Amino acid sequence: MYPEPIQNLIDMFRQFPGIGPRQAARFVFHLLNESEAFRKDLAAGITNLADLLLACTRCGNIESRNAAAKSLCSICANASRDQKRIAVVEEVVDLRALERTRTYQGIYHVLAGNIGAKKDAVLNTAPVKRLLARVKEESPEEIILATNPTYEGDTTARYLERELAALDVKVTRLARGLAKGVDLEYVDEETLKEALAGRH
Ligand SMILES: [Zn+2]
Repeated sequence: MYPEPIQNLIDMFRQFPGIGPRQAARFVFHLLNESEAFRKDLAAGITNLADLLLACTRCGNIESRNAAAKSLCSICANASRDQKRIAVVEEVVDLRALERTRTYQGIYHVLAGNIGAKKDAVLNTAPVKRLLARVKEESPEEIILATNPTYEGDTTARYLERELAALDVKVTRLARGLAKGVDLEYVDEETLKEALAGRH
């Protein structure tokens, strides 16, 4: 119903999490009202995104790429972090939330997703395989399942518990008391600190 260039962009924005057709259309019409310079900067930012970033080959954390031949993120490469404790999070934003508490001293594993409520939405299996491989390679003392306290996060944590059960590693989860259905990135730092301290 819209001219093709508009409809094409609407279809792309609709692939973003939580964005429906009406919001997608609002984004596109907002862009039309913005200056051409803004649209060019946005397009360039999107085009260069992958080149300017480093995805850690070990944990999946994403950082600015500054040193040329670096493959590990600053957390994995930091010898003062507890390399035997791995917190498993759904997304990089959840890793950032735990970092903001300034209490967690271990390292991470980013799943880049969860097992959705829908039957056809399955967990991206590559990061799970990588996690199981890390447990074998790195022999961690503890895996902290820090998935979001949502239906999807709980389903994902239970799935990982089953996968990890065969391996010789202690598996803990963040303490309850986190509000149901709220992603970790929106939980205040004190509550997250308590959930970390009370993990079991
Ligand atoms: Zn890393």
